[in-house]
Amino acid sequence: MSPALDPRDPLGFDDLLSAEDLAVRDTVREWCADRVLPHIADWYEAGELPTIRELARELGSIGALGMHLHGYGCAGASAVQYGLACLELEAADSGLRSLVSVQGSLAMYAIHRWGSEEQKQAWLPRMASGEVIGCFGLTEPDHGSDPASMRTAAKRDGSDWVLNGRKMWITNGAVAGVAVVWAQTEDGIRGFVVPTDTPGFSAPEIKHKGSLRASVTSELVLDNVRLPQDAVFPEVRGLKGPLSCLNQARYGIVWGALGAARSCLETAREYSITREQFGKPLGAFQLTQAKLADMSLELNKGLLLALHLGNRMDAGTLRPEQVSYGKLNNVREAIQIARTARTILGANGISYEYPIMRHANNLESVLTYEGTVEMHQLVIGKTLTGQDAFR
Ligand SMILES: Cc1cc2nc3c(=O)[nH]c(=O)nc-3n(C[C@H](O)[C@H](O)[C@H](O)COP(=O)(O)OP(=O)(O)OC[C@H]3O[C@@H](n4cnc5c(N)ncnc54)[C@H](O)[C@@H]3O)c2cc1C
Repeated sequence: MSPALDPRDPLGFDDLLSAEDLAVRDTVREWCADRVLPHIADWYEAGELPTIRELARELGSIGALGMHLHGYGCAGASAVQYGLACLELEAADSGLRSLVSVQGSLAMYAIHRWGSEEQKQAWLPRMASGEVIGCFGLTEPDHGSDPASMRTAAKRDGSDWVLNGRKMWITNGAVAGVAVVWAQTEDGIRGFVVPTDTPGFSAPEIKHKGSLRASVTSELVLDNVRLPQDAVFPEVRGLKGPLSCLNQARYGIVWGALGAARSCLETAREYSITREQFGKPLGAFQLTQAKLADMSLELNKGLLLALHLGNRMDAGTLRPEQVSYGKLNNVREAIQIARTARTILGANGISYEYPIMRHANNLESVLTYEGTVEMHQLVIGKTLTGQDAFR
């Protein structure tokens, strides 16, 4: 008789990965087990990431920052490997994955893709090592899903630029050494590389969050921030610049959300085997098995979708609309898995002694940032009908 399937990998997903992919995944998994899992529940409850600078350096040392970028001290890993790293980080906590996504896919990618050679040399090696943390300022208090209407403005003063405005909900803001800030200019939206010690720049932290509590989220205030001429990305104009970066970060989320889902499913599965009611383990009841089966089905379908998109990204054929399919599906299913897993733990499901409630709360942010569910539905709807329903 053939051996029983591994309940953690029933479809043989690991067989689709190379030895190098598995090595990258295991490195990040072990780092999380050692450095994050023993502390994360406390950090989350306290609403802080007290060792964020130390963690950033360690993430740099294992090659996780700007992991899929090439040159300038970056690891040059494949998109699939980067995805696997995101999955492992988010299995620990979405806050950790957010730190890495914003650093690598938003701030570093923006400089790598659109920066001048001088900007790349100045920032990327120090960001890859974790010496400098970056943030990415697109969202504003009054402009989230519709960033084209942003009000933050950059005006010329002689050869300098002067920036004024406010950004909102900016991950890593208060701890960043460099901010990529998108602003209106007379030439359309342009991106600026802003050292955060520039006079007039401040990043007050946003407190009282019920989600992503182990992540630094801030406002960015730009009050007559004067920058030299070469602080701007030289070529790119319009939303194409920020959207190209968001596409990278969304891709990481396609994988990452499944990490949170995996943690929830595993917790519920193990609980269902040991917890007894009516003289039997919960996992022996058909209703519990139906829940576990549906969760496992969606998790593994999501993994196959993530791998498909990763292979397309590695082949250079991934389209932003395809990323929308992945982001929409995998985050929506991950949050459903978290909610169902919570029910299996009963009252224990709401306790931070178990990771499920933390993941479920985190996934509320993941559902909203990097394009809300509705925005990705609209992107897919436009693909299917040719009609733009955004406005
Ligand atoms: C924890 C956290 C971290 C974040 N980090 C960053 C960051 O690092 N950098 C950054 O720039 N931003 C960041 N964001 C901001 C995030 O990208 C925005 O919250 C998101 O784009 C949604 O914008 P909004 O919150 O203003 O919602 P709104 O745009 O006001 O939307 C509210 C609701 O209306 C819906 N809606 C809007 N327009 C339409 C439409 N045309 N049709 C149908 N429904 C519509 C939306 O889908 C949503 O359900 C972060 C957010 C959070 C919560």
